[in-house]
Amino acid sequence: MVEVKAKLQEVFQLQKQHQHIIKKTSAEERIEKLQKLKAEILAQTPAILEALQQDLGKPAFEVVSSELLNVIGEIDYYSANLKQWMEPVEVPSRNEGAVAKIITEPKGQCLIYSAWNYPFMLLFLPLIPAVGAGNVCILKPSEMAPATSNLSAKIINKVFEESEVAVIEGGVDVASALLELPFNHIFFTGSTHVGREIMQAAGKHLASVTLELGGKCPVIVDEKVNLEEIVPRIASAKYSNAGQICLAPDHVYVKEGQQEEFVRLVGEYIQRGYFENSELNTTDLSKIINDRNLQRLEGLLEDAIAKGATVQVGGKIKDGRLYPTVLTDVSFDAKIMQEEIFGPILPVLTYTNLEDVIDQINARPKPLGLYVFSEDQQVVDLVLSNTSSGGATVNDVVRHMLEPNLPFGGVNESGIGRYTGIFGFKEFSHERGVLYQAPVGNNPLETFGHTPYKGKLEMLMQRIK
Ligand code: NAD
Repeated sequence: MVEVKAKLQEVFQLQKQHQHIIKKTSAEERIEKLQKLKAEILAQTPAILEALQQDLGKPAFEVVSSELLNVIGEIDYYSANLKQWMEPVEVPSRNEGAVAKIITEPKGQCLIYSAWNYPFMLLFLPLIPAVGAGNVCILKPSEMAPATSNLSAKIINKVFEESEVAVIEGGVDVASALLELPFNHIFFTGSTHVGREIMQAAGKHLASVTLELGGKCPVIVDEKVNLEEIVPRIASAKYSNAGQICLAPDHVYVKEGQQEEFVRLVGEYIQRGYFENSELNTTDLSKIINDRNLQRLEGLLEDAIAKGATVQVGGKIKDGRLYPTVLTDVSFDAKIMQEEIFGPILPVLTYTNLEDVIDQINARPKPLGLYVFSEDQQVVDLVLSNTSSGGATVNDVVRHMLEPNLPFGGVNESGIGRYTGIFGFKEFSHERGVLYQAPVGNNPLETFGHTPYKGKLEMLMQRIK
């Protein structure tokens, strides 16, 4: 560990020196670097598919749709808009003859941690705004996805000098050692529990933080919707990546009397999507990342069943995979209703009054995402105006994250700060307010504030109305 700490210090000091050069780079230079990164990612696509297959058994379709396309799309979006975002913005001044401007400057030295569930996307997506805003940074990939961590380091080393972007691989000991360094900004994706530690450590140096955390994202289904239409939207997001998605629907509320139909349709979706000749088709279903998490999910299932839950679909394990599962009769006392599920288990709950559902949601920490399905705008408004969440999608799930003009992030326990698009650029920037006063001039307001104050107070008092 002594050697690792020495290496961290060396890289940190190198970047400390170099940040001033990077800070002065133009939009064109930054875009050129991002495009170089894109070219390397495209060249490495087969290796990326292979690494994610090794780490998560992730189907190639899911790697391309949810890891690669997000990153490539964000690079192109930055390439099209960065120049404009970097321009100083002039704002009205209250000082006669002066000019007021907001000048955007990089935060400086940044640290980015990623989680293991989208180990490629969650490392590279925040790197784009970090580079776009002109920062130097150290990346710490998740040790739980080692093949992707290793490949990410190779890609970064090929595109960037260590003095600008460096990857430090390792486990919790390395992650903790990095927190001792006085970074200007820490961008963390991971669990709420570790997020708290990050924020505490950041407090020592008063570093700003972005915390992209998790939580239990609820789905509310109004009675007047076409279940056949909406069930595939919910089920595809729940079982993609084996439910290991921060924004995955955690549990669903359906109107009393509609549960049976809802469960039947989810069962049909599972049958169509994940079975061939009654056998689980493991090529389209990701693995659970490791034994510890598989055991955690097994434990959640056992506990729920012991407290009265009925397994309607799935519940079995094969080759490190948990079958897509549906539960009913789940007690609120069960652990599965206390913690983020983060796996392919869908509790289907029932309600009679929407107000009860709203109360139940408000009794928990604010979730990262909230989803309401209804054709009735009043129902949508009732839910949105009486709850809070990082973001929300109406009549679908997860998709608000894919909108480049919407901020993506949590609120309180599901996170602090936001990114993607201009929101990421701002997150990695310091907005510096600069007032340009004329060096010489006849500004009566200026001399008014000079001592002696005699005779001036009355004039000042007239301004307090
Ligand atoms: P985690 O908190 O265990 O680990 C995340 C990162 O933190 C890893 O790089 C790890 O090495 C590092 N880390 C672990 N312990 C640390 C410590 N004591 N000090 C400093 N760093 C430490 O999270 P995870 O298990 O990788 O990810 C799952 C969680 O992430 C879920 O809760 C999920 O909802 C959340 N998540 C959120 C988003 C989002 O965008 N909001 C995206 C993906 C995952």
